[in-house]
Amino acid sequence: FKMGQEFNVLRCFSCQTFQVHQVKKSKKWNCKMCGEKQSLLKVYGQGSGADCRRHVQKLNALRGEVLEVHHPRKRAKKQKVKGLHLMI
Ligand SMILES: [Zn+2]
Repeated sequence: FKMGQEFNVLRCFSCQTFQVHQVKKSKKWNCKMCGEKQSLLKVYGQGSGADCRRHVQKLNALRGEVLEVHHPRKRAKKQKVKGLHLMI
C-alpha cells in the first residue's frame, strides 16, 4: 500500500453506476461501465482504494434498492446502512 494514493468515488451521469477512480489532476474521466466521458462534477467519497471500493459496493446496493421501489415485483430485504457515511 502506497501512502498518499487517493481515490474518488464517482457516479456516471449516463448509467448511474458508482465506481472508484484514482484522483488525477484531470477533471475528465471515463465510466468503467459504459465508457461515457464526463467531467468530474461530484465526488461521493474519498480515501484509500479499499475504502472506496467498499463505499461503492454499498452505494450500488442502495441504488439497487431504489430500483426495487420502482419495480416492486419482489420484496427486497432491508439493508443495514447505519454505518454508511454518505457524502451526498
Ligand atoms: Zn456509465
